[in-house]
Amino acid sequence: MSDTSIQARRTSGRISAWGLLFNNRLAAAGFVLLSILLIAILSTPWLPLSDPDATAPVNRLLPPLSEGHLLGTDQLGRDILSRLIWGTRVSIAVGFAATLVAAILGSAIGIMSGYAGGRTDNLLMRGIDMLMAFPYILLALAIVAALGPGLMNALYAIAIVNIPFFARNVRGITIGLSHREFVDAARLSGKGPLAIILSEILPNVLPVIVITMSTTAGWMILETAGLSFLGLGAQPPQADLGSMLGEGRAQLFTAPHVSIVPGVMIFLIVICLNLLGDGIRDVLDPRLKSGALARPGPVTALRRDRHAPANPHPDASLSIVGLQTGFEQRKRIASAVKGVSLYVRRGECLGLIGESGSGKSVTALSVMGLVGSPPGIIGDGAIYLDNEDVLSMSEARLIACRGKRVAYIFQDPLTTLHPMYPIGKQVEEALAAHQPLSGKDLAEKAIALLDKVQIPEARERAGHYPHQLSGGQRQRVGIAMALANDPDVIISDEPTTALDVTVQAQVLDLLAALQKERGMALLFITHDFAVVSQICDRVAVMKDGEIVETGPTARILSDPQHEYTRRLIACVPEIGDGPAFLPRIARLFDAGAKGALS
Ligand code: ADP
Ligand code: MG
Repeated sequence: MSDTSIQARRTSGRISAWGLLFNNRLAAAGFVLLSILLIAILSTPWLPLSDPDATAPVNRLLPPLSEGHLLGTDQLGRDILSRLIWGTRVSIAVGFAATLVAAILGSAIGIMSGYAGGRTDNLLMRGIDMLMAFPYILLALAIVAALGPGLMNALYAIAIVNIPFFARNVRGITIGLSHREFVDAARLSGKGPLAIILSEILPNVLPVIVITMSTTAGWMILETAGLSFLGLGAQPPQADLGSMLGEGRAQLFTAPHVSIVPGVMIFLIVICLNLLGDGIRDVLDPRLKSGALARPGPVTALRRDRHAPANPHPDASLSIVGLQTGFEQRKRIASAVKGVSLYVRRGECLGLIGESGSGKSVTALSVMGLVGSPPGIIGDGAIYLDNEDVLSMSEARLIACRGKRVAYIFQDPLTTLHPMYPIGKQVEEALAAHQPLSGKDLAEKAIALLDKVQIPEARERAGHYPHQLSGGQRQRVGIAMALANDPDVIISDEPTTALDVTVQAQVLDLLAALQKERGMALLFITHDFAVVSQICDRVAVMKDGEIVETGPTARILSDPQHEYTRRLIACVPEIGDGPAFLPRIARLFDAGAKGALS
């Protein structure tokens, strides 16, 4: 696939951080406006502005656009434009400095208390709680009152009252992180607490700190303005946005521009900071770098110049022909599925087997256009459902087929079931998506389905939450949801991998029985030949995105043609193998590696 010829249904997402930031138009607007402001306030001393403090009583309260005074003058005849720019400089400097101080102190407290836990945590957090127990503007006023009015004291006051926000946020995240396995691993490797905090915890909380900073900077500028407005911050004749607003208050009706101008400036700064903060948050989330921010489409993107190959098995329920699916990465496309063809008939079970990363899940998700785009893209091939080309269906029709004609069962039902809803409700939801049922009928049908998948005491169990069920029972719920709308095809992606062997056998039996009873086509994905031999009629062996061998299960098991198939089969231990099993596997894989090298 050459990257120039790609004409995706959806334009692809850009990947660089700047690209991502500018993808978000509002954040980009905030960034541009703030940059202009920053340039203006950094170069203020060199701008051709009149002295902001020079009074000229004859020129008092000139309206905007007067000669020599673009924004007019205030009650003492001072140039408002000059005071505005000098005042913005002061307000932004104080706001940012207070943000930085609060961020550093607050995060340090949060990390320490979250990581240390126990008594340290208790002590630090009760201190923070005490700070939070006061309305914070009152607290800031009290601090300034104690320290005396002035800009620096206003800065300290605002920094102190904002420490709790950082400390609380960072502590919560640190507690979650400090029990994670990678932190345990660092501990086991002999790292001390400081090294762990700096190398393991800090990089993970940094995005949160930056996001909290970008969202609180706006408030802090407002709070600085508030204190100055009350006469506790900037002292005359020094201008800052709050004091300008305060001084203009007396002329609100006679010369409204004196207070409107600084008011609009405060508004603009805070809005821009918030928009930019949102943008930065999105960019800092690594999951979004792969393009998810560029609004993943509801359907996998498709190359326009796809050649839809004819269907060699028009009677099959599902037929995939020459499917190529890849992922856009910067300038190139990494292909995960490289021309896969397979078919499943009514009442038949096809096993798709291959090691992890061979492209099984991507193949399965491609069937209903479920590979996220960007970065996913279907390059070529065709997918036929009862001889109807899925890839040329309209978006709405394809979405309507999901769950109705093709249903999925995924590996780990604990992650696919909603933790906050009882299982009965979740089955009802699957039913209601495609059937005009409601109320009692819906509930009865859900219970019947749970009963069908052999959940004991289904009526009572329907009210239970996923965490109250065992792994095997959860997977039965997954199967019930897949069966809800009597689909023609069920695709199950390693449904038993998370289960132990005895439960696995029960779930497989159930799946096989239901499939035969309802005459569905079952595409069964696994990495385990033992499972294949138990339930599949035919097998397709997948390696590195390609099907290397396919045929009836019995034939493949007794007479595998491909070296890779032989190795997969050898991985199934037999009773009586005893200690000879592992060396046998090792020999086979060594031989395979040598074969691959020669
Ligand atoms: P498996 O056979 O274990 O189910 P998958 O189909 O999940 O393997 O993955 C096949 C290949 O596709 C892997 O190399 C994987 O790295 C790649 N892949 C899967 N999802 C993505 C994604 N969202 N972005 C980039 N590459 C992906
Ligand atoms: Mg998989």
